[in-house]
Amino acid sequence: MMRSDPGTILYPAHGNLYLNITNRCTCSCKFCIKNFTDGVYGYNLILSREPEVDEVIDKLRRCDLSKYNEVVFTGLGEPLTRLDDVLIITRWLKAHGLHVRIDTIGHALLQYPNRDVAYELKKAGINAISISLNAHDKKTYDWLVQPGKYTNAYDSMQEFARDIVKQDMELTFTILTLPQVDIEKCRNKADEIGAAFRIRGYGGPDLQE
Ligand code: SF4
Repeated sequence: MMRSDPGTILYPAHGNLYLNITNRCTCSCKFCIKNFTDGVYGYNLILSREPEVDEVIDKLRRCDLSKYNEVVFTGLGEPLTRLDDVLIITRWLKAHGLHVRIDTIGHALLQYPNRDVAYELKKAGINAISISLNAHDKKTYDWLVQPGKYTNAYDSMQEFARDIVKQDMELTFTILTLPQVDIEKCRNKADEIGAAFRIRGYGGPDLQE
């Protein structure tokens, strides 16, 4: 049965324009808002289908992009699941003078073991990457993020982060204020890798051990 609401692809918030181009993901985070609701800021982010690249660019073309600080690939899914499409859309955005960021879980080296993803993102013009560090150690990470077949996701995510720094893109690690997460250890990890560090408030239900 067709959903009557096809889902939101572009949505403004905080002076930025956010792109929600997929609901696919490489993990199943216990804190994911998909578990509790269908979107943010009143936008339904559950897509009835993934939009084609041309559809996304057409929607962007109809926006007054000059009012936004940056365009951010984020939403209810992992944007780099559509790496090639992200690269195409990014090139279009850069040709229109925009600052572009990707919010990612950071499993790109596992998704694309034969590609230099950081280099490709840099070459396309990505300015900044925000990676969900999520935890201070592998045990907590695996419990919280549930990366399934990616048994070395925690180490691989940090390797990808190092690649981002080497490519001279702005990198931020984010964590949520969860009782299971050691904030200071996470902050030290960000310092060690050369990432900025951002703590986001968690407002969902308690997560059971
Ligand atoms: S990476 Fe993001 S979209 Fe994917 S399961 Fe985790 S919180 Fe949800």
